[in-house]
Amino acid sequence: MTTIKLHNTRTRGKEVLNPINPDDVRLYLCGPTVYDRAHLGNARPVVVFDVLYRLLRHVYGTDHVTYARNFTDVDDKINATALARKEAGAPGTLEELVQERTEETISWYLADMAELGALEPDHMPRATAYIPQMIAMIEELIAKGHAYADGAGHVLFSVKSYKDYGALSGRSVDDMIAGARVEVADNKRDPMDFVLWKPSTDELPGWDSPWGRGRPGWHIECSAMSHELFGDSFDIHGGGNDLMFPHHENEIAQSCCAHPEGDFAKIWLHNEMLQVEGKKMSKSLGNFFTVRDLLDQGYPGEVIRLVFLQTHYRKPMDWTDKKAKEAEATLRRWRALTTGINPAPTASVAVIDALSDDLNTAGALAELHKLASAETAADLLTSARLLGLLTDKMGTWSQGEDHDLSHHEKSLFDARQVAIETKDFAEVDRLKTALIAAGVEVRMSKTGVELVPGPSFDASKLDAI
Ligand code: AMP
Ligand code: ZN
Repeated sequence: MTTIKLHNTRTRGKEVLNPINPDDVRLYLCGPTVYDRAHLGNARPVVVFDVLYRLLRHVYGTDHVTYARNFTDVDDKINATALARKEAGAPGTLEELVQERTEETISWYLADMAELGALEPDHMPRATAYIPQMIAMIEELIAKGHAYADGAGHVLFSVKSYKDYGALSGRSVDDMIAGARVEVADNKRDPMDFVLWKPSTDELPGWDSPWGRGRPGWHIECSAMSHELFGDSFDIHGGGNDLMFPHHENEIAQSCCAHPEGDFAKIWLHNEMLQVEGKKMSKSLGNFFTVRDLLDQGYPGEVIRLVFLQTHYRKPMDWTDKKAKEAEATLRRWRALTTGINPAPTASVAVIDALSDDLNTAGALAELHKLASAETAADLLTSARLLGLLTDKMGTWSQGEDHDLSHHEKSLFDARQVAIETKDFAEVDRLKTALIAAGVEVRMSKTGVELVPGPSFDASKLDAI
C-alpha cells in the first residue's frame, strides 16, 4: 500500500500516516462561519483538503474514508448581519433572519466550492444541531475540574488546569498572553481562560442550559461535533494556520480534558494563507474578493483550482491574473489533448508518489506536464482527475472556445485592409473595442489577426458586433 507522509504541526515534522482504523480513515476540517460569501482565502483549505480526501480515497478505498467539515452557524457576526437586515426593515423575527442568513450563506458556499471541483464531505455538521452534545461536554469539563461557571451565565475553561496547553503551536502560555489579544474580563480566574458558554438575549438564538439560556463558544463546537462523529481519537484535523492559536489549542484542551482516554487528532495539518500583497486575505482587513467575484468575472472554477494546486499548501500564495492566464492555457491544452480519450485504468505512480509526500501538488502537476508533453493522453486524464482536474463536470467552460472567433478574425482583418486604403480606421476601432469588451484579447500583426478569449470572455457579447 502507498505510504502517505504528512507534515504534523504537533510534532513539527513529516510523519507516516498510520490510520487508527484503515477501514475508516477520519478527517475533520474546520469549516466556515456562515455569515457571508466565502472569499478566495476561505477556499484554500477546501481545495487542499479535497486533494487529501481524494488521495486517501484512492489509497484506502472510496468507502474507507470519512471526511467531516462543519458549518459554524451560531456567531456574533451572523447575528450582526441579521440585526442589520432587521434595522433595514426586513420582515421576520431576529431568529428567523439569522436562520435565513445562515441558509443562504451555506447554499452559496456549497455552490461556490462545487465550482472549484471540491467533493462534498461525508458529514457537514451544523453547530446548531449539536447543542446537547456541547452542553454535555461542558458539564463533563466542569465535573473534571477543567471549567467553571461564573454564576452569570458564562462557563469558562481553565487553561491552567491543562498542563499541555500550547503544545500544538509550541508556545508557552506566557508567550501567548504576550503575543495575542487576550480578552481580560472580570469573570475570568485567569486572563487565558476562554468561553465555553455565554448568555444570549431573548431575541437572538439561544438554548436552555444548566447555566441559563445561552449559546456555545466557537471552540467547543468543533470539539463536540468531531467527538460525536468520530469519537475520542481520529486521524487528521485540518484548518488554516490562522486557526492554530487560539482555536485549535482550545479544541485540544477541551477534547483532551473531556476525553483523556483518547488522543483527539493524531495529525494536525495546517494550510498557509492566501495573501494579497504580503498580507493575509481577510474580511477584517478588507483586502478580499470572493470566489463568486472571480467566477462572475469569467475565471472558470477549474482554473482557480489549478492556480491553488501550483503552490504547496504550507507556503503562502498570491492570486495573480498572470497565474490564472497560464493555468487557463494549460487546461485548454490538456483538455484538447484528452478530448474523446478513455482514461487509463490507474493514475501515474509518479503523481501518486508526489501527492503522498505531504501533498506535493506542484510536483504532481510537473508530472502531469510530462505526461502531456509525451502525449500520453489516457494517463494524463486519469492522473489529472485524481487531482480533481479534467473532470467532465468541470469542463463546460472550455467548450465552444472557437466560438465564431475565426469569423471575427476575418472581419477585423478585412476591415483593416479597407482602412489601409481609405485611411479611415473607425470600423477597425469599433470592432476592436467590441471584442475587447467581450473579453477577447486582440493580437494584430502585419500578416493577420489573432483573437484569444481571455478569462472574462463572454460569448454573448459577441452577438452585438
Ligand atoms: P473563517 O470562516 O474565517 O473561520 O475561515 C474558514 C476557513 O478559511 C478556516 O480554515 C481559515 O483558516 C481559512 N482561511 C481564512 N482566511 C484564509 C486565507 N487568507 N488563506 C487561507 N485560508 C484562510
Ligand atoms: Zn474548529
